[in-house]
Amino acid sequence: MSNSEHRYKCRDCGMDFIFCKAEQDYFNTKKLKNPPQRCHNCRVLRRAELSDEQSHHISALVCASCYSLTYVPFKPNGQKPIYCVECYYSRKLELCV
Ligand SMILES: [Zn+2]
Ligand SMILES: [Zn+2]
Repeated sequence: MSNSEHRYKCRDCGMDFIFCKAEQDYFNTKKLKNPPQRCHNCRVLRRAELSDEQSHHISALVCASCYSLTYVPFKPNGQKPIYCVECYYSRKLELCV
């Protein structure tokens, strides 16, 4: 277990989620200091709820790798497989495995 990986409990759905190195880097670039309090799915849903944008689109999809349900803040064009955030980051950056 590397110390670059942290597990948190989502305050909305109570599920454990990984706040992985790639996401930590992303948070750092956004100058966000606190770790997320919600899992990826709840964050996407919450952002959509808070958003005024009429165009905001949330799609519920099944991850092409682990088959867990994931939400994405866009409408997939069907051209490429959609991964949940853990699979996405681990495939893309191979930092979260
Ligand atoms: Zn959650
Ligand atoms: Zn997955």
